[in-house]
Amino acid sequence: MSLIKCPDCGHEVSDQATACVYCGFPIARLRSAAIRSDPNHPVCPKCGGTYTGRISLAYKVAAHRAIGNGRKTFAGKEYQCLQCKHKW
Ligand SMILES: [Zn+2]
Ligand SMILES: [Zn+2]
Repeated sequence: MSLIKCPDCGHEVSDQATACVYCGFPIARLRSAAIRSDPNHPVCPKCGGTYTGRISLAYKVAAHRAIGNGRKTFAGKEYQCLQCKHKW
């Protein structure tokens, strides 16, 4: 078990958590997105981290429900780094 930064509020939360205890962000969905990633695993262009995930449409919808601004936050972005919150 390790700590990751919540992509929404920036608090450190367990990567085993279902959702961020501070803001309710769906951490479990980020984890499954990262695990499901393909051989061309995206590397964060900002911090070089590999703990990244593809932002699926279903995920964007879930994020929108969870944090209220998912569509705006993820508009035009395909990948998200779980380490530095960078989206690209
Ligand atoms: Zn949070
Ligand atoms: Zn990063």
